Amino acid sequence: MLTFDTIVIGAGPAGLAASLYLKRAGIEVLLIDKDAPGGQMLKTSKIENYLGFKSINGAELALNMFNHVKSNDIPFEFSEVISVDKKGSGFVVKTPDKHFSCKHVVIATGRMPNKLHLPDEDKIQGVSYCAVCDGSFYKNKIVGVVGGGNSAYTNALYLSDLCEQVYIFVRGEVKAEEELINRVRNRDNIVVLKNTQIIKLISENNKLKGVNLADERKLKLEGLFIAIGGKPKINFIKNIELEKEYIKVDSKMRTSLKGVYACGDVIYKDYYQIATAIGDGAVAALSIKAGD
Ligand SMILES: Cc1cc2nc3c(=O)[nH]c(=O)nc-3n(C[C@H](O)[C@H](O)[C@H](O)COP(=O)(O)OP(=O)(O)OC[C@H]3O[C@@H](n4cnc5c(N)ncnc54)[C@H](O)[C@@H]3O)c2cc1C
Repeated sequence: MLTFDTIVIGAGPAGLAASLYLKRAGIEVLLIDKDAPGGQMLKTSKIENYLGFKSINGAELALNMFNHVKSNDIPFEFSEVISVDKKGSGFVVKTPDKHFSCKHVVIATGRMPNKLHLPDEDKIQGVSYCAVCDGSFYKNKIVGVVGGGNSAYTNALYLSDLCEQVYIFVRGEVKAEEELINRVRNRDNIVVLKNTQIIKLISENNKLKGVNLADERKLKLEGLFIAIGGKPKINFIKNIELEKEYIKVDSKMRTSLKGVYACGDVIYKDYYQIATAIGDGAVAALSIKAGD
């Protein structure tokens, strides 16, 4: 069994940042990912809010980051972590064919946004899961936000500053906080459509043109932001404290399990971005270095 001081699980921006900071602090680290390094950045065609790059393809940014990590001689294991178990004062991290031991674990396994599961949802240009990331592509256009929680209402407020008109499609109950509901009510260009369900995405040449609703209405729009939550990827670890399904951490990225840290999209926080994931990864690494 190979031994490291720290094992970082997930090579998205959070895990890449954590492993770089750990290695540069003199800590022996192993980085593991089941897919190509880069995480969700690999699914992003254009990134325009990551400082230092006015506009960059997600795969290119991911490769830049991974090359930076590799240039620091950080070992990378291309495999899926299937379990993390406490053993003595440390942990055993298992992949289908290897076991590793370590003193600290950094969980940086990200999350999957929930989907509407409509035909062609993954193919049509104009469907997005992140208003902060993609909102500026829809300046002065008509857009929709799906969801009735804080995230949907926050996205709608963000978009209402950029777009001509914003519809919020709420299928069930509105669960957003009263303060957000009031702010939305005071915006002239946001319309909340309650008890509505989108049943079809209308597209032309693969670009979103509108939606069909269950009540037979048809609305024209060019962007649809789906904000119905997400699922963090944490099936390999047990007994870790969660907050709204995400891993709960303190300001040093410590979880409820001593020696286990978490960072990036897998934790409960307000903003799920590349910049915040990198900040979280750096904090997790520096907390380990400081012995926190
Ligand atoms: C379509 C899209 C567009 C986006 N656009 C932007 C944007 O323009 N700007 C912006 O700032 N943010 C954007 N985001 C959000 C941003 O990509 C995420 O906030 C960020 O990638 C989170 O980083 P992370 O490292 O926490 O997780 P992720 O990027 O999700 O990386 C997690 C990694 O963990 C690996 N993993 C998971 N489980 C295991 C396991 N059991 N074993 C081994 N490896 C595992 C995964 O393979 C993955 O590589 C976008 C997201 C999406 C989906």
